[in-house]
Amino acid sequence: MIQIKKLVKEYSSRQGTFLALDNVSLHIPKGAIYGIIGLSGAGKSTLVRCLNLLEKPSSGQIIIAGQDLTQLSGKALRQARQNIGMIFQHFYLLQSRTVAENIAFPLEIAGLHKREITARVEELLHLVGLKDKATSYPAQLSGGQKQRVGIARSLATKPQVLLCDEATSALDPQTTLSILNLLRDINQKLGLTIVMITHEMKVVKEICTDVAVIHEARIVEYGPIE
Ligand code: ADP
Ligand code: ADP
Repeated sequence: MIQIKKLVKEYSSRQGTFLALDNVSLHIPKGAIYGIIGLSGAGKSTLVRCLNLLEKPSSGQIIIAGQDLTQLSGKALRQARQNIGMIFQHFYLLQSRTVAENIAFPLEIAGLHKREITARVEELLHLVGLKDKATSYPAQLSGGQKQRVGIARSLATKPQVLLCDEATSALDPQTTLSILNLLRDINQKLGLTIVMITHEMKVVKEICTDVAVIHEARIVEYGPIE
């Protein structure tokens, strides 16, 4: 599903160049829940920003569903982005919009008709168990509920890949488990490939099928979770 080939990211400054990703290669099979674990400063965020196309790698390839993302621009790039959902540690919900309106947002940007949006939002609210919160605002929700909205929003455009960046790091252990269970559910129901970036081994142990360890810009170990 995802092939990362010899990915290099260098940051240049007056002090010289800094290698944040050093020849990172990974193959993430379709339907996997793939953990990428590492200490602070290891290069996780840099890898996320390359995968979600916020940052251009210095060299190497990222191939998702047969398409090399590093070669895309314009419309093709925007389309490829819709195939990658993202959820974040701090949720990044729009505070002035209701739950339903937050979930609808990517669909409005994609230009769907109002009727299609309403139906899709209904479906997503049901999927994440928030039907009774459709008209609530983010400030009225618990952390776990906010992340459920984040998950629903990330799935709105029906991506094949879900990228989770420290998605449970702001949640208590009980809520973390319920979010991980939801992600596992979605993985099984929708066949979605999930990439979990985390510094927490317990998250990896709980949910991941495979794991890679990133240390000082390099993948130092990887394989099935056993
Ligand atoms: P992690 O997410 O694992 O904590 P990061 O990817 O944020 O790691 O950072 C990896 C390394 O790259 C760190 O040493 C960080 O200081 C450096 N780095 C990250 N972003 C930049 C940048 N924009 N310019 C220079 N160095 C950066
Ligand atoms: P931290 O907890 O270290 O402050 P954040 O959760 O704020 O990190 O951000 C995690 C990563 O997500 C960062 O690399 C940041 O650049 C990226 N990010 C933040 N906001 C967005 C956004 N709206 N869309 C895509 N990526 C984002």
